[in-house]
Order: sequence, then structure tokens, then C-alpha cells
Amino acid sequence: KLEGDWRWDKAACRFCGTGCGIMIATKQGKIVAVKGDPAAPVNRGLNCIKGYFNAKIMYGADRLKQPLLRVNEKGEFDKNGKFAPVSWKRAFDEMEVHIKKALKESGPEGVANFASGQYTVMEGYAAQKLMKAGFRSNAIDPNARHCMASAVVGFYQTFGIDEPSGCYDDIELTDTVVTWGSNMAEMHPILWSRVTDRKLSDPKNVKVINLSTYRHRTSDLADTEIIFKPNSDLALWNYIAREIVYNHPEAIDWDFVKEHIVFAASPVNMGYGMRRAGEKSIVEGKYSSKEMEIINKEMKKVVSEDEAPALAAYGYKAGDVMVNKPAGLKHWEISFEEYKKFLEPYDIDYVTKVSKGNPDESDETFKKKIKELADLYIEKNRKVISFWTMGMNQHTRGTWVNTLAYNVHFLLNKQAKPGSGAFSLTGQPSACGTAREVGTFCHRLPADLMVKVKKHRDICEKAWKIPSETLNPVGNQHIMKIHRDIEDGLIKFAWISVCNPYQDSASASHWIKAARQMDNFIVCSDGYPGISAKVSDLILPTAMIYEKWGAYGNAERRTQHWRQQVLPVGDSMSDTWQWVELSKRFKVKDLWGEYTLRNGKKLPNVIAKAKAMGYDENTTIFDILFANEKAKSYKLDENDPIQKGFDNTEAYGDSRNVVGSDGEVFKGYGFFIQKYLFEEYADFGRGHGHDLADFDTYHRVRGLKWPVVDGKETAWRFNTKYDPYAKKANPNSDFAFYGKIAKAIPQGNLKGITNKNKKPLPNKAKIFARPYMDAPEMPDTEYPVWLCTGRVLEHWHSGTMTMRVPELYRAVPEALCYMHPEDAKKYGVKQGELAWVESRRGKVKARVETRGRNRPSKGLVFVPWFDEKVFINKVCLDATCPMSKQTDFKKCAVKIYKA
Ligand code: SF4
Repeated sequence: KLEGDWRWDKAACRFCGTGCGIMIATKQGKIVAVKGDPAAPVNRGLNCIKGYFNAKIMYGADRLKQPLLRVNEKGEFDKNGKFAPVSWKRAFDEMEVHIKKALKESGPEGVANFASGQYTVMEGYAAQKLMKAGFRSNAIDPNARHCMASAVVGFYQTFGIDEPSGCYDDIELTDTVVTWGSNMAEMHPILWSRVTDRKLSDPKNVKVINLSTYRHRTSDLADTEIIFKPNSDLALWNYIAREIVYNHPEAIDWDFVKEHIVFAASPVNMGYGMRRAGEKSIVEGKYSSKEMEIINKEMKKVVSEDEAPALAAYGYKAGDVMVNKPAGLKHWEISFEEYKKFLEPYDIDYVTKVSKGNPDESDETFKKKIKELADLYIEKNRKVISFWTMGMNQHTRGTWVNTLAYNVHFLLNKQAKPGSGAFSLTGQPSACGTAREVGTFCHRLPADLMVKVKKHRDICEKAWKIPSETLNPVGNQHIMKIHRDIEDGLIKFAWISVCNPYQDSASASHWIKAARQMDNFIVCSDGYPGISAKVSDLILPTAMIYEKWGAYGNAERRTQHWRQQVLPVGDSMSDTWQWVELSKRFKVKDLWGEYTLRNGKKLPNVIAKAKAMGYDENTTIFDILFANEKAKSYKLDENDPIQKGFDNTEAYGDSRNVVGSDGEVFKGYGFFIQKYLFEEYADFGRGHGHDLADFDTYHRVRGLKWPVVDGKETAWRFNTKYDPYAKKANPNSDFAFYGKIAKAIPQGNLKGITNKNKKPLPNKAKIFARPYMDAPEMPDTEYPVWLCTGRVLEHWHSGTMTMRVPELYRAVPEALCYMHPEDAKKYGVKQGELAWVESRRGKVKARVETRGRNRPSKGLVFVPWFDEKVFINKVCLDATCPMSKQTDFKKCAVKIYKA
């Protein structure tokens, strides 16, 4: 649409998982304005403060404009050299050399990609296709691992299939919004505006409850704020379940439970995914003695007084030593009576003892609040949504606590219904669309297919027209493992795309040392020189959001596309182009020979099979994966309404034409590859409950929630009234939880319970018995304060984009250390002064804020992580949920003192 000399077009916001629709105006090849799209169902014309600056993030003064390589005085690559500009050709030459070296020395597991929940769908698909099918490496894992991996495993364990049952329309339909570890007011501000609207439209009947470990802006609207001790959300969910089972059994919908639910338990003696005691870190000789202290404690955990009642069912008492074992996704069936017995300890006195988080609040007040919370859930006919984000996901028992949320909703039959359900919100714009749905996780393939399942690999190999047994069956190199493999010299080549792992990983200094000191070659594609770019050996300038075609999938399963609006700044190129271009450097004979994997098994030579398919050993991977007949079948067509209006021929080309390996020029290939990649990816899910519409449709509409069947989107999954797949699976019932439920294991360590039935669990949704446990690192006399980290409204993630927008920078120029005034006094610091925040892993200086937007109770400080000058992730503990491998950034022990 033209308005004077401005051309308006639709796009999606670059930032959070809300997925707002925006309109952007271009003039003379530059984006000049951004506004909310009134036609966008998510945000209805509104943007939050970040959304309005979607354009300005692209025009920072230090935008990267050409590749930069570390070189010596002779211009040769030197890991200790200084960055100097090089051509794209030289950049790819270096990458080719180092990838070939890595494959030779370490095999496919030696080549890695730090991927992203901010990749567009097509970028993520291209990256995982080249990594998994070309390099035969599953060492690709998105930063979404840090963001919602616990929610994903929670979905799989509970439903046997990923992603939420509900949608944002729940907000207008509900009577009760309960936020658990989610500062929606700042992190999902547009959704919060909808919650606010709902609350203010019926203030008496609509209730809002905010549960958090510290006071933040979400409490401003809430009827009740419940401050709980870190990790004790496990106890609170079990308390609500206990209230239902013991005191309000009439509230249980037995018809629903009997038809759709199986009760299950899992082992509790699982380690937190940190390095095993006694293992050495090559970089530093060994971990610091303080880190070893935590690891040893974790390996042989002593059961605390607080944990003892919850762990009695598993045969432990206070003082017992629990030997932690490697984790596994294991569970077994239990009866309702056994589940009831498991819940017994979670009475109001016990839960108040382990959960009350504000020392200034009386036990009685806390008890009253949690009883009222349970009553709201239980109230017949009251609709309830439970929203959560990082508080429940970034949690060493993140998978457990996600499943506990579904327990309560299932018992009451308040799940997958308009206005009711447990709903995990994602942080990043395409954590759902790209990281999960496309399969950029190390263990996944597109559309819920799994690397370790042969049948699934077969499906992919057939679809990708690559020889059988090309795909590597070992998919365990998640983000923290990639860091550790770099540290151990096992990964020799790592490519960072659309993320900032050296700022966003816990215990960050440790991984930075590994990257710099070991024999490796690290590449970082970015728009700006953030910490990860500075840690790397080669920096590639990357096209930013509207300088390329794209698509994102948000937290309510909505897929949205946009067109490239402008040419990239300088020599920047899109991530898709970078992956596709790299693929030209490798031939069948370079990648598809035999390898021995680290587990000792062989990845076979598939060159003969490739020849039988019509390729020869000199066929490029580009020709097989990205320039096949389908990709070439698209044509430039000015009458195509999607291409129309983009009069600059280069704008087709994302943004340049691509020259094939045989010199053939694919004019407009950048556009075709987008369409080709999207359609090929979408085919995986069509007919399998994950149906996407076609590329052209998404360019006509304001996004659609999958599954899209017969042109219609799906609002509530698993509900036969709304979800065609549920209807097909169980036409005679209101619900069908149609995912595949995992096999049972013969026994676990829930005392006295042995599963003699080794068959798979019934194909039903699960209610899990999972206990309260302490966090791996608890405050003590030396480090007496909890540290919680997170974001602020004005800045996105590590701040590389938003800190370059003057308005956002001026609004929040630095990360502050929010603390209680009495704690400030106790530790000898004053409002506005600098203080050290120190843990067993490192320390940072931050300015003290005792009266800001976040108001922790005594004993906890909150520090946001957007500011590279206040590098708080150096301080955090790299403990992960043993099942999801998601790091817990929300709790570790620190001390505070004057700087
Ligand atoms: Fe919407 Fe999130 Fe963008 Fe704000 S940052 S405009 S809430 S998508």
C-alpha cells in the first residue's frame, strides 16, 4: 500500500514470542516507520515500546558491513591475530578449510552450530538441513534450549506431542489468569494489555494472581501476589493438587480422568547435567574448588530437612545420601491411590514452610493466599488459565514443574477448553516456529520427527533425496554439551547464528576461555559486534530482519510471513544465503564417507548409494539440498502478487542472485529458495497434525494457527469441537490427546512401587507424581543471597540490537541490581552505588536499585542480563534440568558488597 512516497507492508515483530503483527514503511530503500497493524489478531494495532523500534535496530552506527577475519601481519588466519576485513570468498575459503579439518580430526560431531529461536523458519530449516543431511552432524542446537526446552519435554511427556493446546483468545474467555514465574507485564506486554483489558472489563469477577520469587510489574494488576522461595513452585503445584484430591474430591472430573489420563512417576535421583565429579576441564586444568564443591554436593546429594517429607515416598530421610545418576526420560505407571499417597505430605503447613518467600509476611497471610489460589482453581465453572515462562522453564526441575501444572488442570478437566488451560508462553519470536517445529534442536527433525528413531530418519532421507543411513542417529549435542565439547577440544568448528552464546550462557567466562584457548575455528554471523562476535575468529555481517524474506511461529502456533523490504546494509547477506552458499563448497566425496562416532559406532559410507541415486562423487551438496528441480521450478513473475511491487530486482534475491556451482545464475533465487524451503518443510507436517498453509496464503493473511486443515486454523487442540485431528482420533468424546505416549520402564525409585507391566503406557495424557526438591545451589553463610536474572521491557535478550536504539538506551542505559532496602543496608551499599555481585564462578559490578520496578523481598536480588558491561551470566550456575538440559538462570547463591 502506498502513502505518498512511503510503501507500507505487513511484517511480524522481531522480538518476543507474542508475535505481534506490524506495518512497516519504506522510502528510498530505507525503513522509515513502524506501527502496529490494526488487522493483526494478536495485537490489534498496538505495539510495545520495543515493537515501535523494529526499524531502528537495523541502523546502529556500528552495524557490521563486511566479513572480518583474525589475521597476522602477513594476512594469514591467526587465532591470536587482529580482525581485518576480508571478502566473502575468503571467508568461505576459511570456513571450508576449517570444516574439512574438523571432519577429519573429529568427524561430524566436531562441526557445530549455535542456532536460534530467532532464526526465520526458512533459515532454521536450511541450517538444520545442511548440518544434519550435509555434514551429518546433529551438533546444532538453538538458544531456545535456554528458553523453553523444559516446556517442550513437559509437552512430550504429558501429551506425547509438542506445543500448547490453547491460544490467546483464552485471555478474553477466561475468568482467572494465574502467572507462574512470568513477568508478563514486561516480557509479553501486548498479551498483558489484553489481560488488563479483561480484568478491567469485569474487575469483580475476573481474578489475576501473580506467583513469583520477587515483586515485579505484573503484581500491579494482580488481586493477589504470592512470593515464593526459588524452586518451591514444585511444592505449590502439589499443594493445589492435594487440596483437590484430599479436600475437594468432588471437583475431580472422573469421567474425564478415567477416559483420558494415566498416572505416572519417574526417578528423583537425577543429576543436574553439570560436569561429573572428578572430570577435568582441559582449559583450566580443573574446575575451581568452589565449582567442584557444588558438583560433588550434587553427585552425592544429602537430603535436607525441607526435602525429607517430599522424598519419604522415595525411601529417603533427612541426612541420607542420594547418589545422583545420569538422567533419562523414564517413567512408569502408578495408580490413583499411589498418586494420592504421594501428595499426602503437601499440606498447608509443610508447603508454607518450604515456599513462603517473603520473610516479612506472616505464615497465616501466606496460607490464606495459597488456599484462596487453590479455591479459585477448584471453583466449579470458573475458567482458569495458568501462564508461565522462564520462571518455570529455566529451572533445574523445569520438566517436572511443567508437568505439575497440567496435573491440576487435568484433575479438574480445565485443559484444552476455551478460557481454561495451562499455557506455556515462549520468549523468542520463533522458538515455536523454528526451534521446535522445524527441528533445529540436536535431537529433532522437522515436524516432531526424532533423530534417534530410524523410521523418522528414513522419512527425512526420502524427503531430502539423500541416501539411506546418511543421517546420524546420535542427537545429544545440546547447547551446554556444545560448549563442553569445545572446551574438550572435540568440536573444532562452531558457527554462531542469530544468537549470542558467549553472553547468554551461564558460567560464561568458562566457555569464553574454552573458545579462545582450544584448537578450533569459531564463526559468528551477526548484525553487530556483540560478545560472541568478539570471541570468534571470523565475523560475518548478516542481513537483519526486514532485509530478508522471513516467517516466524509464535507461542499460540501462529505462523506469519513477511517480504523482504530493503537491501541489507553494506555487504551483509541473509543467513539463508550464507548456509546455501557454504553448501557449494562441499561435494558428496567430502562429506559422505565413513566416520567412527564417539560412541564407537560407525556412520557408514553412503557414496555408493548416492551414485545409485544418480549423483556422482563430485555432485555438490548445494545441488542435492538446495538447487534441486523443485527449487528451480519457481519463476520470477511480476504478476505474482507476492513478488509484485518489489521493483528493485535485487529485492527478489534475498537480496542477490545466486550463482550455481556450475556457473548458472539463478535470478531471483533468494526468493525462490524461501518458497522452496518453506514448502518442503511444511510437507513434513501436512496430514500429521501439524498442517501449515502454503507459502502464498501466508502472504495474503495475517498468520494462521496450525494445524490448518481445509484452509481453517485450529484454536484449541485436543478438543474435538475445534481440532479436526482430535475429532478424527476420538469422534465419540470431547477430547483426544492423540500424541504418542512413551514406554514404561520396569521400575523406578518411588518406594514400594514396581511396574511389572513393561508395556507402553496407555496412549493417554499423563498426571505425574514429582516431588519438591531443593535447588542445586542454595544460599549459605558465605553466599547468603539468591540471585535471579531476567529481562526488562525495553531491551531484547543480550541487548545487541536494542542498546543501539537511542530511545531504548536512554530509557534503560544499564542493568541494575534490584534489592530490598534493608539488604542494601545490611551489605553496606546504598541506592545508586555500585556493588559487587559475586558467586562461586565470578563477579560483576552493578548499580544498586532499591526502589525500582522490581522489588525483591529480603534475601534475593534481581539483575537483568541485557547489558554486556554488567555481564551477569558470568555469575550464574550452569546447572540444567536433567531431562530438558535447560539451564536454570533463576537461582544461584551470591554475596553482595560495596564496589
Ligand atoms: Fe509485541 Fe513482543 Fe514485539 Fe512487543 S516485543 S511488539 S509484545 S511481539
